[in-house]
Amino acid sequence: MEFRTHIAAIAAASCLCAGVSRAQGAKISALPTQPQPGAIVRLTLSDPTRGDSIVSIRGALADEPLHFRRAGSNTWRAIGGIPVDKEGVLFANAVVQRASGKTEITRVRFDLPKIPPPVAQPLEVDSSFTRPLDAATQARVDRENARAREVGKAAHERAPMWTASFIRPRNSVITSEFGSGRLFNGQLTARHLGVDFRGAMGEPVKAANRGVVALIDNFFLAGNVVYIDHGAGVVTSYFHLSKTLVHVGEVVKRGQVIGLVGNTGRVTGPHLHWAARYGANTVNPLDLVRIGTWYTAPASTPRTAAIPRTPASPPRR
Ligand SMILES: [Zn+2]
Repeated sequence: MEFRTHIAAIAAASCLCAGVSRAQGAKISALPTQPQPGAIVRLTLSDPTRGDSIVSIRGALADEPLHFRRAGSNTWRAIGGIPVDKEGVLFANAVVQRASGKTEITRVRFDLPKIPPPVAQPLEVDSSFTRPLDAATQARVDRENARAREVGKAAHERAPMWTASFIRPRNSVITSEFGSGRLFNGQLTARHLGVDFRGAMGEPVKAANRGVVALIDNFFLAGNVVYIDHGAGVVTSYFHLSKTLVHVGEVVKRGQVIGLVGNTGRVTGPHLHWAARYGANTVNPLDLVRIGTWYTAPASTPRTAAIPRTPASPPRR
């Protein structure tokens, strides 16, 4: 609810009402400038203004709040997620509040590419996989998707828990990339919204970073799943496990073995499907690895930060 209010405030601020000016001071920029669907973007807010310090920054991208953190004396950083199904123009917005009471708005525009038709990747699958789901099963899948989205949204309420870069959950070969198409018995199906790692039954699956186990269940498509809430809107999830080795509420370390490779759910054989979300939006988990330590709290910051009451954590002076 707080998050909705937050978005509404930014929308209202965008009308350039009295007392609100276009930013001449603070300015937001993004990398990459032309992100792919499901990309994680790095947002930098720079402020050359002297003598009127910034007391808070609230931001949003694709209906998800941004969590700016200070990266220097006049620089703040946030990460955001590009939706997998969005084409055309998208903006990341930031509302900057100064000590004087002045408010500034800055935004950066993304021109998203046309979503390419999926590239076929032949798979030999039992024909039961290609048949439409019956109503009860479809309802179950919808419920499970809704729960996964809720885990993503809830991750905005927690301060970032990681102090080192994200790592791959397995060292093995990637057998299917994010966004690649799927061909089931000659029929093209939805894009692949995760990354598959090779693995034999019972091989270890590691937590990509420090976080709290938010969900463990057996899902129709994903089989035995573990979802880890890393805070700051970031969630990673691990599918098709033969065994889970953690419990809900447990704080897991980066690299901790959280489960074993399996073939539960809708799969052709044992492997790990690794997925990630920024809020409700599914993103490419390898982008979390690619950002390295760009958006990582120094190890000296408190390890168990308090849960922020507002979606964006205001910088402290
Ligand atoms: Zn997969």
